[in-house]
Amino acid sequence: MTDTHPNTPETPAGTGESLVRLNARAVADERGVLARPASLLLGVTPGASPRDPLSGVPLARTIRLLALDSPESLPEHTPDLVIDRPDCVIIPPLVNAHAHLDLTHIGPRPHDPAAGFVAWVDQIRDKRRDTDREIAQSVLDGARLLLRGGTAAVGDIAGAPAGIPSLIPWRTLRQTPLAGVSYLEFFGIGSTEARARDRLDRLLHEHAQEIARDHAVRFGLQPHAPNTVAIALYRWIARRAAELGLPLSTHLSETPEEIEFIASASGPQRELLERLGVWADSIDAGHGLHPIEHLRPFLEDTSGRDPGVLVAHVNALGSHASILAGARVSVAYCPRASAYFAAERHFGPHPYRELLGAGVNVCLGTDSIVNLPPETCVGPDARISVLDEMRFLFKRDATPPGLLLAMGTTCGARALGIDPAPFRFEVGAAIAGLLAVRSDAPDPLEGVMGAGAAPEPVLLRNLAR
Ligand SMILES: [Zn+2]
Repeated sequence: MTDTHPNTPETPAGTGESLVRLNARAVADERGVLARPASLLLGVTPGASPRDPLSGVPLARTIRLLALDSPESLPEHTPDLVIDRPDCVIIPPLVNAHAHLDLTHIGPRPHDPAAGFVAWVDQIRDKRRDTDREIAQSVLDGARLLLRGGTAAVGDIAGAPAGIPSLIPWRTLRQTPLAGVSYLEFFGIGSTEARARDRLDRLLHEHAQEIARDHAVRFGLQPHAPNTVAIALYRWIARRAAELGLPLSTHLSETPEEIEFIASASGPQRELLERLGVWADSIDAGHGLHPIEHLRPFLEDTSGRDPGVLVAHVNALGSHASILAGARVSVAYCPRASAYFAAERHFGPHPYRELLGAGVNVCLGTDSIVNLPPETCVGPDARISVLDEMRFLFKRDATPPGLLLAMGTTCGARALGIDPAPFRFEVGAAIAGLLAVRSDAPDPLEGVMGAGAAPEPVLLRNLAR
């Protein structure tokens, strides 16, 4: 129980909150190290269950940060619980802006970039599950790995097995403690364009009430990519999404095959569409445009939306940063996926710093488990975590740790239309949770980014409603 000393932070008494003290080597958020050594006082309201049954992660219904200071400077208090992590830095939980949880059952797979993207896509098409039960299981497995990796919110891509849109991934994600958006993915180009539009329109009408309700995981829409969705269908879905207030996402400027197809209507992507019987001479490609220029009408249609369109990858930018900035697009950069597909070999270094410089909101994603290294997503420390994306950039580019934390927390929240404030440690405010990450280096945050251990979710707010 708490005492009644006048300096005691406003606590628990009568509110149902417990007072928790957490002692650590340091506390940091996107602003850098806030205290070192550090202690936090938290007002914690328990939820229905103290741990998530899926991942074992400790959960609370609400978490308020009552005080944050050096251990000897905290106001007088009598905690209900003391947690010690003397070797760890405490950071906010993470936002993964681009994941494909329904591919989790495939697991990490090797890939020879020289074989090209279409060979990889064929492998995924072959292994994608198509029963409701199997899809739900794969999404739950992915959610478990996200939670183990310290994730509080996700932008998940809900695939359409055999071209049939499914609400199962969205409904499944709503059963977990995660927040975010489940973007329903669709294809529609050439001979499949009209059918895709009809199917989507029917789905949006049939499930209008469920879609309109307020969920911690919102329903969103994802036209797959410029080389698989007609620009007219992009513009139609932009209108429907605006009418219904739904967030939008797409892949953009990801592969050399996409860039060749949009510019010259040729190459492996053209052959794939012909092989699938989808190619039609009316397809709007072959005018020498970069995919970003090609999508410009769609991006401009959506420029007044909040959040703006979330585009994944942008491995090749050309001179088009101003189009993305002008349309208030967010970019989900998936560093390890870009490396897996050897994007740098084709396009040079990823332009995330140029995008940031142009004022674009750049956040982090993992893409699917298929492209992640087995050492982080298989075995006892298995996880899917943008912390490992931050570490990859820190080691490769010496990206400042504070910027990496911003990209992996508040920038991702903004991209998904979530309040970014709980992903910073503001005294007096609600927070989304706390992760403990072991750090041995002289600079605590450089230790977080330079190491490889899994983050420990000390406590996450349960956002399931
Ligand atoms: Zn993707």
